[in-house]
Amino acid sequence: MPFTIILLDREDGDTQPLEGKYDPGANTTGIALVALFKRGRRVIWAANLHHRGLQIEEKMTERRGFRRNRRKRHCRYRPARYNNRARPKGWLPPSLTSRVENVRTWHRRLMSRAPVSEVHIETVRFDTQKLQNPEIEGVEYQRGELFGYEVREYLLEKWGRECAYCGAEQVPLEIEHIVPKSRGGSDRVSNLTLACRACNQAKGNRDVREFLANDPERLAKILAQAKAPLKGAAAVNSTRYAIGEAIKASDLPVSFWSGGRTKRNRLSQGYQKDHWIDAACVGASGESVFVPKGFLPLEIQARGRGHRRVHNNDDFGFPRGAPRKCKRVQGFQTGDLVELVCKRGKSAGRHVGRLTSIRARGWFVLRKGGRNHDRPAREFRLLARADGYEYTTGTTG
Ligand SMILES: [Zn+2]
Repeated sequence: MPFTIILLDREDGDTQPLEGKYDPGANTTGIALVALFKRGRRVIWAANLHHRGLQIEEKMTERRGFRRNRRKRHCRYRPARYNNRARPKGWLPPSLTSRVENVRTWHRRLMSRAPVSEVHIETVRFDTQKLQNPEIEGVEYQRGELFGYEVREYLLEKWGRECAYCGAEQVPLEIEHIVPKSRGGSDRVSNLTLACRACNQAKGNRDVREFLANDPERLAKILAQAKAPLKGAAAVNSTRYAIGEAIKASDLPVSFWSGGRTKRNRLSQGYQKDHWIDAACVGASGESVFVPKGFLPLEIQARGRGHRRVHNNDDFGFPRGAPRKCKRVQGFQTGDLVELVCKRGKSAGRHVGRLTSIRARGWFVLRKGGRNHDRPAREFRLLARADGYEYTTGTTG
């Protein structure tokens, strides 16, 4: 269980400015706190925040099933509400909303415990604006090293992460000139595509019209797709955008960055791929960040806060026992971290774990070591309240 020690004698300054850095992902969001010391930037805290995503979708499907069933049995359950209402602007499905809320929660927690002075978030895979106007940020972007990374991410998105010539997926892809440079082809993004190594070598120095002479259908598709620029919106994932907006609401200076830049920063410093390392490498300040050897991130797993079910069911789906009246009994709740000390009996000894279930009559169950310890409330001691997350320490460094 992570905890914080607040040094009260440092209240009037004497702290380093901290950067809060986020790399939101589909399943995991990397978080890093980077301090600016005199000798440079250094990661002082990091975490991988694992979202519930799929679990929420399953729960919603389950709930829909229950409701439909009750409706069909005519047991006076409410009638179906057809989903013909307009969804508010920026609506996200519940599984995605939970990702946004997870990040918002952790951003709030970090702000309340650390002197975070600015925030950097990776919100887009590549920077369309910089691809179209390479001079927007000066020399650095003009066909520089970073430009290559942005182009690669752009092409991956545009060509659907597969070989344009044979459709192979999950293989290393190389950047390919549709009209070879030796035949007057340009370096413009509209003349570039992605090909697997075999296709790239087979095509060699030939023009695409020559190479695909036997496959006019694919040729037409490639030529059409090459001309169509990828819309800016395609780069901005709606969840990442919502996360950016949520953090912007915290009144700190927030900068948004592209994934191409993160990848360049991470590779140029020789760090391995991990979500929290990516977070530390986000943005211009991610160009030189020191990650101490053997540094262990906090692994945070979102677990939700219990369920809405009032009844427990038996194996045939019939309600068992009385409906649950309250969520909390004698100050305890399912999921709280507790200590149980038993003097005698089968449960003798000290057990620490999360409460498996609580009962209104004041006997709780702690499942530990393959046994259910069913004991009265007075024998439990609360160590930490369930806060919707589970913590372990990472293994990478
Ligand atoms: Zn291929």
